[in-house]
Amino acid sequence: MEEKMSGIVLGGVSFGENDKILNVFTLEQGVVSAKIKGVKKAGAKLKFASEPFCFVEFIFSKTGANRTVIGASLIDSFYPVREDIVKYFCAGAVVEFVKRFYLKDIVSPDTFLLVVSALKGIAYGDNTPKVTLINFLVSALKVAGFQINLSGCAHCGDKIDGRVFFDYRSGAFECEKCFDRTGREVSIITLNALIAADNGTLKEDDIGTDKALKLLEYYIEYRTDEKINSLKELIKICH
Ligand SMILES: [Zn+2]
Repeated sequence: MEEKMSGIVLGGVSFGENDKILNVFTLEQGVVSAKIKGVKKAGAKLKFASEPFCFVEFIFSKTGANRTVIGASLIDSFYPVREDIVKYFCAGAVVEFVKRFYLKDIVSPDTFLLVVSALKGIAYGDNTPKVTLINFLVSALKVAGFQINLSGCAHCGDKIDGRVFFDYRSGAFECEKCFDRTGREVSIITLNALIAADNGTLKEDDIGTDKALKLLEYYIEYRTDEKINSLKELIKICH
């Protein structure tokens, strides 16, 4: 049986002397794996389709549960993400997010579109790569069921403009009046950067973007027990 699917290559592992097993996040069927033959040989025709981040239209042949790539056309390689270390870690964080949250066969067209648009933005966009990554994480966490509540204090509903506390267990912010000692104090700058990301007005890198990245990294690890290593690396080089 043949299948045609659009997918983002998440990565691959060597298989035998010349082959690889690819991990691909597809629009149609979520994350699938597929063997791609001969791609470790010099001049291999389908080599481009085995590189992480590449957006490819694949043709798979499927026998039982096993897929093999029999054709591929490149939609976008997002090449600039390979040339700049900040872009590289931002794109890496997007791909890792999918690997951690979308196990095999979980179909999420919404996440797929977010991933394509984030990689495009990181590679070519007007926003900085970090801003694009924050926008992606805020939206993708929502789709994955780990939404950060940015609508004000989670208890009284007031807009927070003084001291602010974040409850990592629930993903909610609290004002000083309602703080019940479960949250941890964070900077209002962090909250404002996340609110701006949520309504599409976060534009430039500043102290707020770095703080927002740190909160997101900590939140994802605390809440889901998943580490996004590229995000950790990105935060390290931001100092
Ligand atoms: Zn409150």
